[in-house]
Amino acid sequence: VPLVLTEFLDRAVDLYGEKLAIIDDDRTLTYRQLNARVNQLSRGLQSLGVKKGDKVAYLAPNSTEMLEGFYGVFQLGAIMTPLNTRLKPADYRFILEHSESKVLLVDHTLYPLVEEVIEDLPSVEHVIIHGDESLSGYETWLSGFASEKFDREVMEETDIASLLYTSGTTGNPKGVLLSHRSNYLHALSSMHHLRVTDQDTLLHVLPMFHVNGWGSPFYYTANGATQVMLRKTDPALILEKVEKYKVSVLHMAPTVLNMVIQTFEEKRPEIKQDVRVVIAGSAPPPAFVRRVEEDLKWKFVQVYGMTEISPLITTSELRSMDIDRPAEEQYRLKAKAGYSMIGSQVKVFDEVGEEVAHDGKTIGEIATRSNNVMEGYYKNEEATNETIRDGWLYTGDMAVVDSGGNIEIVDRKKDVIISGGENISSIEVEATLYEHPSILEAAVVAIPDEKWGEVPHAVVVLREEETLSEEEVILFCREKLAHFKAPKSVAFIAELPKTASGKIQKVVIRKKYWKDHN
Ligand code: ATP
Ligand code: MG
Repeated sequence: VPLVLTEFLDRAVDLYGEKLAIIDDDRTLTYRQLNARVNQLSRGLQSLGVKKGDKVAYLAPNSTEMLEGFYGVFQLGAIMTPLNTRLKPADYRFILEHSESKVLLVDHTLYPLVEEVIEDLPSVEHVIIHGDESLSGYETWLSGFASEKFDREVMEETDIASLLYTSGTTGNPKGVLLSHRSNYLHALSSMHHLRVTDQDTLLHVLPMFHVNGWGSPFYYTANGATQVMLRKTDPALILEKVEKYKVSVLHMAPTVLNMVIQTFEEKRPEIKQDVRVVIAGSAPPPAFVRRVEEDLKWKFVQVYGMTEISPLITTSELRSMDIDRPAEEQYRLKAKAGYSMIGSQVKVFDEVGEEVAHDGKTIGEIATRSNNVMEGYYKNEEATNETIRDGWLYTGDMAVVDSGGNIEIVDRKKDVIISGGENISSIEVEATLYEHPSILEAAVVAIPDEKWGEVPHAVVVLREEETLSEEEVILFCREKLAHFKAPKSVAFIAELPKTASGKIQKVVIRKKYWKDHN
């Protein structure tokens, strides 16, 4: 069997044809019905001239159309390029141009975002709006095409399935080319580690346009699970759908999970639930894990990854030797990125390329040799060669490893502050600042210093109507941290620059203050 993603849909149709595949508000589809619409879409796109290797862009919330798009595009051997729904018109122009997308499918609610941009984009030959029949006639268009088995393009495992753009946290978004093979093997590994079965009902909270949400439809489809769409990230709506559809598994960003916990703790709703696990990234503190497991009563698993590796390579699901540990220790373990998933070797290397000691304190860079690794950055060979060296992909994330082999993320490489030969984790200093009741948001970056090379500089956003002096902030940190880690200076600003997915752009902050202090 070739490792191509359409195999997953075939399996679901063969074994689970009459089972519910999608619940999208009041629309439902069985796997057989989904497959029929996928065939119609492939024929529709073919009629517009979409061929093997062409890129088809999608701008849509999690929806039936988006999932149909995945398989409808793959059947043609074409490449799916999903677009972040929270970008600015200039970003859409950049990505549509850079990817040379031939067709853009867009949900009617998001169309205004691209309306002006698409007028003068030479590569985009067709724009298809869906969601509002009176506006687009999408359903009428689709129903004009036959729904029986589609004569698929011959595909190799190494053919590209997706061109995904990174979040742009550390610079411009980069286009990541992922093959069918890497997406397929990533799906096999993830479905094993996350214990996905045909009894699962997944609520798609993570946006499918982002790599974290992108990967999951494959392994839930392959297992014939039911996939419930969430069009709007609203905590009350999430809890409502969890109960209504007996959701068993959710993947979400910790910031969203935090909102769900807050809503739950405030309202204490009596929800009947069958949730077996919630999967999240981004290193939340152990106290957060406790609230998820004890208040919400959802099992918590942390995963780690990045767009360039499809994305997941580690999991914090407890291993047999850890399941009898006291609860607090378990929460501490689950707050780490964890250990390697099948198909990925994950190591932490020091500057000379030696594996760091597993002592929980020696810092190195995470690198991986994995089935999931990208083919490269699109039209950026230099960045590809910088990232993949001697068969290892260097993640740019710094970490320590404990004696049990569990990896804990310390910082992004570019964000580490090197002061008098000591490495300071900006994340550690920020975590201390967040403990201050008057501080709403904080970023810590390096500024140049004659004596120490670099020193930490804090950029702080205060809560409304709060006041703090520079000295107070510095003193607060010196009480809690080794003195060399405490910020040497503090700037107060109204708002921190962020990416469309809500990540703080430290690169922007660092550039500004580095220049100001030079
Ligand atoms: P860009 O590469 O454009 O600067 P980005 O790196 O934020 O943006 P993504 O691929 O969406 O783009 O995010 C991957 C990054 O997210 C990782 O490199 C890591 O820094 C962070 N990350 C992912 N999982 C975790 C985790 N479990 N704990 C801590 N950080 C995580
Ligand atoms: Mg990155």
